[in-house]
Order: sequence, then C-alpha cells, then structure tokens
Amino acid sequence: MSRYLGSVCKLCRREREKLFLKGERCSSKCALDRKRGKNAPGQHGVPKGKMSEYAKHLREKQKARRFYNLTEQQFKHYYEIAEKMSGSTGYNLIKLLEMRLDNVVYRLGFASSKMMARQTIGHGNILVNGKKIDIARYQVKAGDIITASEKYKNNSAVKNLIEKPSANIAPWLAFSKDKVEGSVISEPIADEISQPINSNLIVEYYSK
Ligand code: SF4
Repeated sequence: MSRYLGSVCKLCRREREKLFLKGERCSSKCALDRKRGKNAPGQHGVPKGKMSEYAKHLREKQKARRFYNLTEQQFKHYYEIAEKMSGSTGYNLIKLLEMRLDNVVYRLGFASSKMMARQTIGHGNILVNGKKIDIARYQVKAGDIITASEKYKNNSAVKNLIEKPSANIAPWLAFSKDKVEGSVISEPIADEISQPINSNLIVEYYSK
C-alpha cells in the first residue's frame, strides 16, 4: 500500500486522539482541541455504538501505524521481526519502532515532526557516530551518537528548533545543547515507552 498523502489531521480525527503528526502546530493549533474537530472525518463520522473486539484491535494497529508514519506492509514487517525476537512481542514491536532513526531524530529535537525527521535524514543531514546515514528505518543502538551536518545546524529555523528543549525526548536518550549532539543511553525499557499505544491489542490483531 502506498504512503498516505492526505491531511494528517484527518488521521488524528479518525483515531479521536492527538498523534502529533504536525510538529509544533499540534500544541498550538490542533483541530482536536476544538469541539468541531473532535468529530471523525467523513459525512457521517464514526458509527455510534459499541466497538467490536476486532474493531478495537484494528484501530489500535492503525493508530500505531499512523503514529510512526508507516505503510501497512512496513508495519507488518516490524511485527514479524518482533514476533521472532525473544520476550514480549508487543514490547519488542514498540522498541523496534522507537529505535528507528527518524523517531530518534524527532525525539531529540532535530526535527519538529516525524515527517520532517524523515526528510532531513533523506537529505543526508544526519550523522550516526560521525557517518552520514540517509535511511530513516536505520535502527540505532545503545551508545550511538547522533549529530547533524554543519549546513543543517546553521539553518536559522533549525537553530531555533534546537535551542528549545524537546518535549518529546525519552529517558533513554540524551541531548547536549552545547555540542548539538544526541546520544542513545540504552535500549528503552518497557516503563520508558510512554506511548498512547496498547501493544497488546496490536498483538491480538495479528494473532487472529
Ligand atoms: Fe493531529 Fe497535530 Fe493535526 Fe492536532 S494538529 S489533529 S495533533 S496532526
């Protein structure tokens, strides 16, 4: 399935939850903060009544997929890898998604949204341990140092962005403003993954 190119706010309205897909605008000008914006998209919105178990599982999978900006196929691929790993499949899945380079770049505050992070990486502006990495799906490891190219860091909009403390930084990451560099302290442990996602429901979805 191809990548979604429509309004990202519609995706949040569909899930009835803020997925923070537009960066800073999500904190100041979010449609979901207005009463009308809370309605699901489409002429009739979401059907009223109790959601079936299947629908609950499906919605959670869709929410996670949208949160990490992945296609159906990419998301399923991560699930299959998570299933083969030892330990809890749900935790493994979220850990793999969290440790994608685009997610880490966003969380460190090098980009205001995951979409911007992906573009920034694609343009060759991100370095891992001093080496340019232009693959958004790259998996970071504990001990990795993430920096940006001089050209990128010197862009005035990026400078402003980096100046502000990132609201999305996770406990397993660190950012040094002086050096303008981020580091991966460790792999995230279950308690440190505070996403609005219930991975057990996703496991249920794929286990059917
Ligand atoms: Fe979602 Fe951000 Fe749009 Fe709000 S502004 S609906 S959080 S993408």
